[in-house]
Amino acid sequence: MTNALSSQANPEPRRAATGGVQPILELAHLTKRFSSSLDFAERVAKRLGAKVQEYDVHAVDDVSLSIAPGEVVGLVGESGCGKTTLGRMVAGIMPPSSGQLLYKGQPMAVMSPEQARQAKLKIQMVFQDPMASLNPRMRVSEIIGEAPRVHGIVSRKEQADHVATIMEKVGLDPTYAARFPHQFSGGQRQRIGIARALAVRPDFLVCDESVAALDVSIQAQIINLFMELRRDLGLTYLFISHDLGVVEHIADRTVIMYLGRVVEIAPTPELFSQPNHPYSRALLDEAPRVDTRKRIFAPIKGEIPSPLDPPSGCAFHPRCPHALPRCTMERPQMREVAPGRFSACHLNDAR
Ligand code: SF4
Repeated sequence: MTNALSSQANPEPRRAATGGVQPILELAHLTKRFSSSLDFAERVAKRLGAKVQEYDVHAVDDVSLSIAPGEVVGLVGESGCGKTTLGRMVAGIMPPSSGQLLYKGQPMAVMSPEQARQAKLKIQMVFQDPMASLNPRMRVSEIIGEAPRVHGIVSRKEQADHVATIMEKVGLDPTYAARFPHQFSGGQRQRIGIARALAVRPDFLVCDESVAALDVSIQAQIINLFMELRRDLGLTYLFISHDLGVVEHIADRTVIMYLGRVVEIAPTPELFSQPNHPYSRALLDEAPRVDTRKRIFAPIKGEIPSPLDPPSGCAFHPRCPHALPRCTMERPQMREVAPGRFSACHLNDAR
C-alpha cells in the first residue's frame, strides 16, 4: 500500500496515498494556532518596561495525512511536539485554525449538522489517564451506556444489554456494571475508557498515550485488546505515543512530528530499520528498545526549542548534526524519497 503525506508545496495524491482505496480519514493542511493578546494590565506593564508580549504558537503546522480503513498509524515525537493537539483535532475535540478533516471523502466542515454529528461519533478518543477521564460519581453502566442512549444508538430498555456486551468485549465482568471507577484497577479503568469509546460503535479510535500510565504487563494486555478489536471490529487507529517500542509493535505506518510539523512518514518496519530524517534517526538512537543490541544510547543534542520562538528554516537545525547553511534559512518540504516514504530534509535534494 502506498501512502502519502504532503505539505502545500507537495500536494497530496490522496487516492494514491491509500493505494486507491478511499481513505477513512484525511487531514488536509491541518493547522492549530494558539494566540493571546495583552489585557489592559499587561499593556500598562509593557509600557512600563515589563517583558510581556503577545504570542502566536503554531502547535500544529500544515499537517496532511491520509489514513486507510483498518490501518494503524503511529504518531511519535517528543513532548510538546503537537501530537496531542493533532489527535484532539482529529477526534473533533478541538477545531483546527485552518485546514480541514475529511471523513470518507467528505469535508466535515461542509456536512449538515446531522451528518457531522454522525461522523464525529464514528471517531472516538481513548485518553491516557482513565481516572481523570472517567466521572468518579457515575456508575460504569452509565459511563458506558449514556452516550449510546443519548445519541439514539440504543433505547433505554436496550442499554443494560448493550453495556454488558461491550464490557464483555473489552474483558470486563458485566456484573460489575453498578460499580464506580475507583473500585477498579488501573488496567480495568482503561478498559472502561475503551468500552465507553466503543459504545457508540466508532470505526476510528484516536489513542492518546493510552497505555503510558499503565504497568508494563498491563500495557501488553491493553495493546493486545486494541489489536483484537481491530481484527474483530475492523477499527482504524491513530496511536499517539512517545514510546517507540509500542509504536514499532503495533503501527503499520509511523509518523514523526517535530515542533508542530511532520518530518517523516514511512511504513513502520522501514522507518525503524532505516530512518531517513536526522530527527527520526536521533529519536531512535536515543530510545532504549527491547530488540536493540546497542548498549550506549545517544541523547539528542540540545533542548527542544520553544514553540513560541521556533528556529528559522528547518526547525531541527540547532540540534541537527548534518545541518547545512541552507537549513537555517529555508524550510524543507516533504518529499517522497521512496515509494510510500516521505521525509522533509534538504539532504534528500542531493539524492
Ligand atoms: Fe538537518 Fe538540514 Fe535536514 Fe533539517 S533540513 S534535518 S537541519 S540536514
